[in-house]
Amino acid sequence: MTEIKTTIDFDPDALRTRYKAERDKRIRSDGNEQYLEATGTFSHFSIDNRGGKIIERDPLSNEVDVVVIGGGFGGLIAGARLKNAGIDDVLLIEKGADFGGTWYWNQYPGARCDVESYIYLPLLEEVDKIPSEKYASATEIQEHARAIANRFDLDKDVCFQTEVKSIQWNANTSRWIVVTDRGDAIKARFVVMASGPLHKLKLPGIEGIDTFAGHVFHTSRWDYDYTGGSPNDDLTGLADKRVALIGTGATAIQCVSHLGKASKHLYVFQRTPSSVDFRGNRPTDSEWAGSLEPGWHKERMENFNNLVSGIPQEVDLVDDCWTDLIGNIADMYRRGAVQPEMDLLEVLEMANFEKMESIRKRVEESVDDPEIAEALKPWYALFCKRPCFDDEYLPTFNRENVDLIDTGGLGVEKITSGGVVVAGEEYEVDCIIFATGFEVGTGYERRAGCQVVGADGRTLTEKWDEHGVSTLHGLQTSGYPNYFMLGANQGAFTVNFPHLLDEAATNTVCIIKHTVDEGYLTVDVVQEAEDEWVKTIVEKARGPIGSGPGSTECTPGYYNNEGHLNEKARQGAPYGGGSVEFFKLMEGWRNDGDFKGLKFN
Ligand code: NDP
Repeated sequence: MTEIKTTIDFDPDALRTRYKAERDKRIRSDGNEQYLEATGTFSHFSIDNRGGKIIERDPLSNEVDVVVIGGGFGGLIAGARLKNAGIDDVLLIEKGADFGGTWYWNQYPGARCDVESYIYLPLLEEVDKIPSEKYASATEIQEHARAIANRFDLDKDVCFQTEVKSIQWNANTSRWIVVTDRGDAIKARFVVMASGPLHKLKLPGIEGIDTFAGHVFHTSRWDYDYTGGSPNDDLTGLADKRVALIGTGATAIQCVSHLGKASKHLYVFQRTPSSVDFRGNRPTDSEWAGSLEPGWHKERMENFNNLVSGIPQEVDLVDDCWTDLIGNIADMYRRGAVQPEMDLLEVLEMANFEKMESIRKRVEESVDDPEIAEALKPWYALFCKRPCFDDEYLPTFNRENVDLIDTGGLGVEKITSGGVVVAGEEYEVDCIIFATGFEVGTGYERRAGCQVVGADGRTLTEKWDEHGVSTLHGLQTSGYPNYFMLGANQGAFTVNFPHLLDEAATNTVCIIKHTVDEGYLTVDVVQEAEDEWVKTIVEKARGPIGSGPGSTECTPGYYNNEGHLNEKARQGAPYGGGSVEFFKLMEGWRNDGDFKGLKFN
């Protein structure tokens, strides 16, 4: 490794050693198994507490062209693009009682997008909307989801409060049979699965979790009946309550300041600190909004995506802490902090160290008690975990009524009927809130909550258990004709998730339209093309990202399958060449017009 000559004020070797030690402390042999599913005795954790009474309706058995599973941004973008392509017979099926997907479920206090709303919210020009703030609230984001549904008439054909339990391919009729928990058996020519990557909440497998006698809920089912208030109002019901918040990921970072203000006492139980950078939210400048020219939305999304992918741009349109890391690299060059012979990976590592040093400095500047500040410092590379942005989280630990209970990387030891135990000490509380996230590394069908039975009668789990995840472009898998999956597995990953959903929806609609226009009944993947794509994914995953996000060198979390990356898990990775390269590849593939790798019947 080349030595740093000038103007950096950290010791890279010391940081490498510290990062490794902190990671090693947190690696657990049980990986994903440490978590509990919200089923059986824990099923009450996932009950929809926003939707009100189940609206009775008769079971459906009709036939439609396309069933879209999921009424979040993925499903809405797919629905909108289908309608734009003239495919009108689209039925959306959604578990919640409204549109919004993750923004329906996650209405915890302080919930906001943390990628700029002008690029995060999809279809802004089509809906003629400019968000009111740089980082819009969950309430406004959900309103936008409704507006998309309304603009594209997707609210005319939707089944809310309906969970798809299975879809089964019927080769005789060339239709999917979509079976739901409401007794529906709908026939569909095409199915688009847009159930989202963070669809299924998870609970920590802490000893005694089922013994707590107080109130308890997960952040994705926030109980405003108990806490009082609303996503944007004070939580008035907590004034006499001692509250435990378990978890310090992106969700916790956003709701801690609200809980701190409202609770009689708040204990925040931390296993791994998040990196918490500057937020700088502000209202939208109406003059700027008025100056936007048609095409601005796509241009801004691409500008951001290029910058966060390390591709220099003449201007930084978004100009926030996501794009700042790249600016930091340029700055290092300007300062001569790196030697010319350093390769890009070394420069990236230095820039990452520097960025994380500034994050740790920010903790010192925001938190009065040096001991608490020390415990809040993250010791891993940026992008090992989801970076967070908030200006009120850190100062909340200066409040008299807020305690950080750092578990030294080990997690909560035990839950009792009266409270939470760490290092032998019990903290008595009235309420426990789990900010412990969602299943990512478990099986596809388990996460989707739906069995997918293909042409040969095999479930997708059976197919992928045998060979690992295998798709063409992350979108289709052979033996499951007319079936499309919107997500990041073997497709693109970018921090602006709706951007990749839009690209995947564009591909989906292009293929469906071709199938329909040419009078074909089915479209499936050629096995050799799928094998080739899997090879590409595995090869690219072994490349430069080995030491980057998703790497086993990172502290464990859902980005790296809790630190257990075997060949099979690696096979489910996104395209290692990055989203910019992937989107170009897909655009070229569409423009070629010969649908290479697909077979039509
Ligand atoms: P995460 O999975 O990111 O965080 C879960 C937290 O629970 C971690 O801090 C984890 O610690 C902790 N935890 C788990 N088990 C234990 C235990 N036994 N004892 C103590 N702590 C424990 O979930 P989030 O809901 O915070 O975020 C999930 C994702 O949702 C984000 O990564 C982001 O992609 C998305 N999100 C987006 C937002 C936005 O756009 N504005 C806002 C919020 C979320 P450890 O780190 O050690 O595993």
